[in-house]
Amino acid sequence: MKPEYTTNYPSQTKKLGEIFAKKIIQMKPKGENALVIGLEGDLGGGKTTFLQGFAKGLGIKEKILSPTFILMKKFKIPVTPHQRKYMNFYHIDCYRVQAPREISTLGFKQIISDPKNIAVVEWADRVRKILSKDAIWVRFQIMNKKRRKITFLIRL
Ligand code: ADP
Ligand code: MG
Repeated sequence: MKPEYTTNYPSQTKKLGEIFAKKIIQMKPKGENALVIGLEGDLGGGKTTFLQGFAKGLGIKEKILSPTFILMKKFKIPVTPHQRKYMNFYHIDCYRVQAPREISTLGFKQIISDPKNIAVVEWADRVRKILSKDAIWVRFQIMNKKRRKITFLIRL
């Protein structure tokens, strides 16, 4: 993976999410915690689109929607010969979150401390304080109507 990509179509952003998922689940987990990925950047930047590809890369068949009113959704990750490390995928969308404590009450601490979980958080900058220190950050910027800049900030 390069540190930075430009996509010109939603399908490219989706594909990038799929490739990223397949790469990231092969990496050795750093600690005893969940794999936490924080997405930040513009509204309409492609965070949910990226996540749709990400879920596909994990083998999840269900549709990933933009959960405007739902804060958190849990999906089962299928076990395959290549992947038996992670069991649950959490999609958390903090668009409507004003304070980190709003997601603390959802058992967020337990979710991000279980190494069987992958948690991807949209609008993660709103809850930065309670995300793991070793979270992977991905930034989405709108360059023009169809062009998106996607930057991986990986500190591993
Ligand atoms: P976010 O979750 O960051 O608010 P979404 O993924 O929900 O963003 O929405 C992105 C919007 O931008 C969609 O309407 C999509 O069709 C449009 N779009 C246009 N070009 C791209 C691109 N290159 N990548 C992703 N989305 C794009
Ligand atoms: Mg979104």
